[in-house]
Amino acid sequence: MYPQIITYLLTFINYQEHIIRTLLTLLIGKSMFDKPKEAPVNQPYRKLQIDDLPIIEKLERLDYQLLLAEHLQSKGKPLKPVQRRANSTPVPSTLCCPKCGAPSAYLYANNGGKGQYQCKVCACVFNKKSRYQKEAILKCPHCLKTLEKIKERKDFHVFKCKNDRCSYYQKNLNAMTKKEKKQFKEDPQSLKVRYIYRKFHIDYQPLSKQSPKQPKVDLSRLYVSPHTLGLILTYHVNYGLSARKTAAIMKDIHGVSVSHQSILNYENSVALWLKPYIDYFPYELSDQFCGDETYIRVNGRWHYLFFFFDAVKKVILSYPVSPNRDTATAIRAIDEVLVKLKEIPENLQFVVDGNPIYLLAQHFFAENHISFDVKQVIGLTNEDDVSREYRPLKQIIERLNRTFKGNYRSTHGFGSEQGSVSFVTLFVAYFNFLRPHSSLEGKVPVTLPELEKLPTMPARWTALIGLAQDWIQQQSA
Ligand SMILES: [Zn+2]
Ligand SMILES: [Zn+2]
Repeated sequence: MYPQIITYLLTFINYQEHIIRTLLTLLIGKSMFDKPKEAPVNQPYRKLQIDDLPIIEKLERLDYQLLLAEHLQSKGKPLKPVQRRANSTPVPSTLCCPKCGAPSAYLYANNGGKGQYQCKVCACVFNKKSRYQKEAILKCPHCLKTLEKIKERKDFHVFKCKNDRCSYYQKNLNAMTKKEKKQFKEDPQSLKVRYIYRKFHIDYQPLSKQSPKQPKVDLSRLYVSPHTLGLILTYHVNYGLSARKTAAIMKDIHGVSVSHQSILNYENSVALWLKPYIDYFPYELSDQFCGDETYIRVNGRWHYLFFFFDAVKKVILSYPVSPNRDTATAIRAIDEVLVKLKEIPENLQFVVDGNPIYLLAQHFFAENHISFDVKQVIGLTNEDDVSREYRPLKQIIERLNRTFKGNYRSTHGFGSEQGSVSFVTLFVAYFNFLRPHSSLEGKVPVTLPELEKLPTMPARWTALIGLAQDWIQQQSA
């Protein structure tokens, strides 16, 4: 009885407190609610058991020109393109058959614009989203039987080995305790005993990054001198002062009036110019990469920032921000690293945390014939050999994350996606090109001769922006 009353009263007090804070917020015009915490409370990733990669067999490839010639020979008349009625679903002219390469004129839109097509030449049925992967059949690595599709999700299909004599299935059955056997009998879905594979069909071709485009903002039209801009970036990005404090320093010490909102606007423009330069820079790289996710707040919601980093050269190679901690973003993050490699090294490996999205991403790339190893460092103690061996690498990227957090803290989160991307971009520019690193004997990770001889940080920021502008104008010339 008493505990119930106490619980009720506590809930009631909480409710009253909420009303009081709301009224105070309205009265004073300033939020009376607590600032968001530095890390989200308890957001574990979904524990998921990822099986080994299936055996991927390439399907035979056909040549539509040969097939058309054969048709002409055997039937005595050419195979005509698909006749379309005026109101039929259009087929994109760039689409072609993944199996025989027949152009769009030979493709039927199969199911009323839902993205499924059929080739008139070779009869292959394919989906627009999965056309890149219509190149393989999947077999169980334990029994070599073809896998069956059992579920279709938004980003992936689930395949299962249904063979009762599969060694994987038999092994798991035999390893069950009495209790598990009983549970399995009552509810077979509650235990995972069969080989499972998740095949991603996001519309994404690896290693197909487009060439850089010139941003649509004109830096010469900012109402600020290059030197002032250099000072602002130094205070806000290098020293991690908030935009408001940066505005105050500009006024109090340098006698320059600039609002904190203008500072954010300037930085958005600068980030647009620096991003292509950072992303396409011909970095000298090692073959040791590590990745980690960290949290940032965007529009009051937690977002994930994925950092991938050359652990030896101390260069940040990819930094996507996403509202989801999902496989699609992990794939994007890893691809950003791969495109920067002149060729894929034989012993390429990524050291990451225990999140299963990285294994799923590895499988996605393997299906596209790009292989690498994923080493997962799990938990805070070294409970397995992999964790023991690769923890030092993992700690390097955790240190990078702490450096970022130190600079990010003053922002109290971002009001927009663009604001968060701009700040992260500027941080990466600073980290790769401007920040001396103790383990590189006080050198910056990427030394640019144009910056080395300059005496101050604002001058280096200005020169870096100039280099980025020159570079991108050369690219689009
Ligand atoms: Zn075809
Ligand atoms: Zn099997």
